[in-house]
Amino acid sequence: MIPTCEEVMSTADSLPIRPVAIEAQWDGDTFGWRVWLAAVLPDGAGYRSRHLATFQDGGDIRLFNGKVPSWPEARAAALIGAEVAKRFAVPFFFPSPDFPEDDCPVWAERDRGYPCGRCGILLLQHDPCPWRGICYHCHLTFEKEGSQGRNKEDG
Ligand SMILES: [Zn+2]
Repeated sequence: MIPTCEEVMSTADSLPIRPVAIEAQWDGDTFGWRVWLAAVLPDGAGYRSRHLATFQDGGDIRLFNGKVPSWPEARAAALIGAEVAKRFAVPFFFPSPDFPEDDCPVWAERDRGYPCGRCGILLLQHDPCPWRGICYHCHLTFEKEGSQGRNKEDG
């Protein structure tokens, strides 16, 4: 399900205080990938996150049938998130707008992040991570290239 811009705006309008940033992050489980949108609110010396919306569409069947070209929920979250950020005149933070990645830093931890060694998206990986230093998408691409290379050597 993908919420409308009006729905997200009305949730954003009910925030108790002005956010310092709006962020979008991937979240994945056995039901597939989704993108959540949150407002980052100042909280004493730190920050707290207030959920605004969840974007999920299509399910991961598209990975197998290839019918949906990319990630419409990510595109919707990026567009609406940018609109909400514009309304409050604060930054919009979506470290992986093109591919699912759940090892990105949240906005409050962005200074601890480091770029993926291949595509440059901001990462903050949790141990154990066998592909440390590159994102999951790049890891899969790398694996595919590796197996193709091996097949050529075999043939
Ligand atoms: Zn990458």
